Amino acid sequence: MASVELKGLSKRYGEAVAVDDVSLRIEHGQLVCLLGPSGCGKTTTLRLIAGFIEPSAGEIVVGDRVLSSPSRTVPPEGRNMSMIFQSYALWPHMTVAENVAYGLKIRKLDRATIDARLKAILATARLEPLAARYPGELSGGQQQRVSLARALVVEPETLLLDEPLSNLDANLREEMRFEIRRLHDQYRYTTVYVTHDQAEAMTTADLIAVMNHGRVEQVGPPEEIYARPRSEFVARFIGGANILRGPALDDRRVAVAGIPLRTSGRRLEAGRPVTLSMRQHEIGLAVEPPATADNHLRAVVARQVFLGSVRDYTVVLEDSTELRVTAPPDRSFAAGQSVWLHLPAEQCRALAEE
Ligand code: ADP
Ligand code: MG
Repeated sequence: MASVELKGLSKRYGEAVAVDDVSLRIEHGQLVCLLGPSGCGKTTTLRLIAGFIEPSAGEIVVGDRVLSSPSRTVPPEGRNMSMIFQSYALWPHMTVAENVAYGLKIRKLDRATIDARLKAILATARLEPLAARYPGELSGGQQQRVSLARALVVEPETLLLDEPLSNLDANLREEMRFEIRRLHDQYRYTTVYVTHDQAEAMTTADLIAVMNHGRVEQVGPPEEIYARPRSEFVARFIGGANILRGPALDDRRVAVAGIPLRTSGRRLEAGRPVTLSMRQHEIGLAVEPPATADNHLRAVVARQVFLGSVRDYTVVLEDSTELRVTAPPDRSFAAGQSVWLHLPAEQCRALAEE
């Protein structure tokens, strides 16, 4: 097994740039999620790694072998990678056991080895009771486990998954996220997992690479991406952060809707425009005027939705900026009501200048 390194990787289709100068190192045994909206270049990146397409620029290095470059690309069958697509593509006329063992048979392994490996993977994927069934007799989640087992049993150097859970319903999708992470913990294949679903990435990944317009905007462990987004795009895409804008008053304070807010994060330069990000649940909501004016803003409630464990508010500042606030359900503020927002300085993060 080996690390996978993308170096300045680009893919152009005529004038259009699908993947734009992507550099990313995936250590041996790591699970990295490529996360981003539809059309941001995730599938193209995965197909480049698999060797289905050639890069326009840059290279892909696995271990110490250059597998892709504009001058030479090793075909998929020379790569020892398994790729799982959105559709599971199981063979309908073969049983679960036959589907899973197929890759071992075409590799011409001996009977005893095939049986031993098949037994182990069926147990891990919890497919033993289903071994004699045909795909048509399985639920979506069971078919997905078969497709995972089939990819894992050949002991690939690298496992590539393209939105593998998108055909499942919501409950099953949640269960399968844990399943994929569990299988990864057991086998530790170097894995690239493509998804547009933030929760899926948070559950499964060691590292998340957030993609936008063919580029990687930020790479880091899930907690770091969430806690310290570096751009407005990442702040909004991961956890739907609020964005506030205003000029810097000094190295720590920004005027938002005319009110000075103390901030955390980078040092500011007086007079420069600043963008702040702030999570929905980090904003305090009250009707009583605050004891100190510090980091408090006036707002009016525009909407409220009761979600059971929380209330989800949309509030409007005096400069018409809309913010989302999630607050405990026990107190209710009606639409039209005037409120005070508390935006703690530690959570008012100044994003990098674009
Ligand atoms: P994602 O998987 O993130 O949704 P893709 O990698 O499939 O995005 O596509 C990225 C961009 O590249 C899109 O704008 C898409 O239309 C374009 N693209 C992908 N494949 C081709 C192709 N074969 N020819 C032309 N454009 C393509
Ligand atoms: Mg895609």
